Amino acid sequence: MDLKNKILQLQKDSSALEPSPEERKETLAAVSAYTDDFLNRLPNIPAFENNHDESKPISDFIPKEETYSIEELLEVLKATVDSTGLNAASGGHLGYIPGGGIYYSALADYMADVSNRYAGIYYSNPGAVRIENMMIQWMCSLAGFPKNSAGYLSSGGSMANLSAIVTARDTKKIKAAEIEKSVIYLSHQAHHSIDKAIRIAGLNEAILRFIPLDEYYRIKPNLLKTQIEEDIKSGLKPFLVIGAAGTTDVGAIDPLEEIGNIAQQFNLWFHVDAAYGGFFLLTEEGKAKMKGIETADSVTMDPHKGLFLPYGSGALIVKDAQALAHAHHYQANYMQDAKYAMDELSPAELSPELTKHFRGLRMWLPLMLIGTKPFAAALEEKLLLAQYFYKEIQKIKDFEVGNAPDLSVVTYRFAPQGTSESELNELNEALLKEIQNDGRVFISSTLLNNKFTLRLAVLSFRTHLHTIDLLIDLLKAKSKKLSEL
Ligand SMILES: *Cc1c(COP(=O)(O)O)cnc(C)c1O
Repeated sequence: MDLKNKILQLQKDSSALEPSPEERKETLAAVSAYTDDFLNRLPNIPAFENNHDESKPISDFIPKEETYSIEELLEVLKATVDSTGLNAASGGHLGYIPGGGIYYSALADYMADVSNRYAGIYYSNPGAVRIENMMIQWMCSLAGFPKNSAGYLSSGGSMANLSAIVTARDTKKIKAAEIEKSVIYLSHQAHHSIDKAIRIAGLNEAILRFIPLDEYYRIKPNLLKTQIEEDIKSGLKPFLVIGAAGTTDVGAIDPLEEIGNIAQQFNLWFHVDAAYGGFFLLTEEGKAKMKGIETADSVTMDPHKGLFLPYGSGALIVKDAQALAHAHHYQANYMQDAKYAMDELSPAELSPELTKHFRGLRMWLPLMLIGTKPFAAALEEKLLLAQYFYKEIQKIKDFEVGNAPDLSVVTYRFAPQGTSESELNELNEALLKEIQNDGRVFISSTLLNNKFTLRLAVLSFRTHLHTIDLLIDLLKAKSKKLSEL
């Protein structure tokens, strides 16, 4: 075969990459029927199915020349993915930090994937980059950041925290030689992604000062200040303090304003991890509780938590746009065309990524279609559901609670009188297993002062009053059963 014919043959052999209009229609109809069925069944399917079965046929489905029909594939996905483990789309997901997955975002993703517009650089697609920057500006305004702030939509809170720490390191000029003398202030309640980010950022040898917490698990600002002063006196270089607006564990909000003032006084970068709590800024109560967030240099927010978007949506906002740009700057000869159009900062200039998913569309489309009000209402509902649970759980025999919820996390445990601490730990673990085995709702646990403690985290937009009432009923029945054993 000559070269031309060979090329034409390959064109034919690869033609399945572009389905015909009929094939598109059929496949889309099958997928759409599948997702509709999922959403219609969702209120009645478990939040947790402890049924992972390695013998299921997914392992046969490896890339090879042989093909399958969409129906076969949907069936195997239903069996191995969409009906096992934790159902993160369920309103019964009340553990860890629940996710969301609003439908309009899925449609936006579909459009973004089909057109595959390049949202990394303004020059390549001014509209897409502008949409992403508008979403960032909206988050900046929620946090009370000035108009010329910047940021980027990340894959999640972990990436956002990493970028924030790298930006702090870069801005405060922490060079390799002085890492061992550099000090980072944080709390034992900080999310583990912070610790991970510190190591990835090459700051493993920096000094970490875990500031003692008050009874509400909030950083004690006076102790933070004393520690910084001591460190300066002994010739160390404090450069970063990290607070939380809603810790993952108990939902605590650090005293942001006081920490912000201290950070400013000593010229420290102040990062607020609001991955979980950030979007409660859409509510009056959340705004009041997070007062002082505007004093931060950078804030992490997770739209795939508090804005109910599908997984893969985090965000970092930074007050000093140039600081963020400097920490992530690049130079490449083959990018010279793109460099000519600097009307607007681009994600590629503000983040570790270059080629990326057009994440802005899955946030923008639902906000445009339904407006901000339903989001604010859902978030306020979550705050009130947590308060309702906190009140109701105390009415059940032998339950004790932690602090009143700052946001939408409540800690509690079953504590019948005359039971030893180690027995209480076992009892609560058994209670957790009972709830998980029932599966209609999913809760998780934590260790607080070495006590096995149950957690309620309300953040799914599908969690409503009846979900919380179901959990209360289950806790009542299962704890009764356990005490009768
Ligand atoms: C969830 C969470 C993170 C990590 O975010 P991912 O989106 O899971 O990467 C960081 N900090 C806090 C407070 C969180 O709740």
